[in-house]
Amino acid sequence: MKFLIASHNLKKRDELRRILSPLGIEVYTAEDLGIVLPEVEENGSTFEENAELKAVSGCEASGLPCIADDSGLVVDALEGRPGIYSARYAGEDTPYSEKIKVLLKEMENVPEEHRTARFVSAICCAFPDGKKIFVRGVCEGKIGFEPKGSNGFGYDPIFYYEGRSFAELSPEEKDAVSHRGKSLRGLRLRLKEQFSL
Ligand code: IMP
Repeated sequence: MKFLIASHNLKKRDELRRILSPLGIEVYTAEDLGIVLPEVEENGSTFEENAELKAVSGCEASGLPCIADDSGLVVDALEGRPGIYSARYAGEDTPYSEKIKVLLKEMENVPEEHRTARFVSAICCAFPDGKKIFVRGVCEGKIGFEPKGSNGFGYDPIFYYEGRSFAELSPEEKDAVSHRGKSLRGLRLRLKEQFSL
């Protein structure tokens, strides 16, 4: 069974392939299939809405079931920011070292007990018959007072899970507890049930 992933990111494609190939699901990017997907404006107000916009558009353009995800960091002391704007926080082209500096500055007077935050990953899979599957993975943690570690990407150096930052975890340790690890395992389960695989 062929599925499209609504992303040009080959790391995301290969991650999905590892998770879904045991079910006989083959995952391709638009480039793999030689098609061009229309640009999608991510103007939803939730992670799920943005994932749905991308999945439905990719499904309509390709005629294939299409998987899309949207993720971000939700910080309680910042009323949920940067949230769905995580990639655009402090300016779209600003490096993460700068985004992290800005976020830590915004949090400078927030005490330890109020530094709670979570990473959220929402996935939508849209099918040509109009059916949609949604899964959400969440990882609860805290925003540290300083960045630590050199693994991972994005906000990993300031997101602390059980005393260590995500950037201090190995990829396997992160996968086991992360929002994305959880949403991907949830997707595999839902597709397995859906198609009796
Ligand atoms: P996207 O939905 O995959 O484009 O991710 C949105 C943004 O959320 C990323 O650019 C990062 O800023 C942030 N983000 C999502 N997941 C992670 C993670 O696992 N670690 C660090 N940052 C993340």
